[in-house]
Amino acid sequence: MAIRMIVQEPDPVLREKAVTVKNFNKNLHKLLDDMADTMYDAPGVGLAAPQVAVLKRVVVMDCGEEYGGLIELVNPEIITTDGEQIGPEGCLSIQGLEGTVKRPMTVKVKAQDRNGEWFELEGQEFLARCIMHEIDHLNGVLFTDLALRVYRPGQDDEGGNRR
Ligand code: ZN
Repeated sequence: MAIRMIVQEPDPVLREKAVTVKNFNKNLHKLLDDMADTMYDAPGVGLAAPQVAVLKRVVVMDCGEEYGGLIELVNPEIITTDGEQIGPEGCLSIQGLEGTVKRPMTVKVKAQDRNGEWFELEGQEFLARCIMHEIDHLNGVLFTDLALRVYRPGQDDEGGNRR
């Protein structure tokens, strides 16, 4: 396992669409292990493969024990979304900025595990936000594209930069 470098905005790799994983082999397992290490080291709660410059549809998340601990999603697809929530969001590839982003309250996805087995996952609240944020990365979308406003936490988070 190893810690990989996290790509920063405006690196164009963050704007590419990641490709479907077809080989569930050792390379994929190493990627997933490295991504988890990199996420915990940062520290962050989610990381998508394009953020370590690998254009594959692979995501790791850990939104805490109450949300199931470490979650690995390969080739995730949104099945349904429901409700909405508006709250703060940040990104390991956009240092120093947060945004207020509207997300669904509940999201149901299907994905493959590291061995290619399909499963379904329903996320609520913080986990739903994480899942949407990470799947956006696989499509070249960043939270700053969607944010109702973007601000520097602790500096101008009262009525800061609006975008
Ligand atoms: Zn992000």
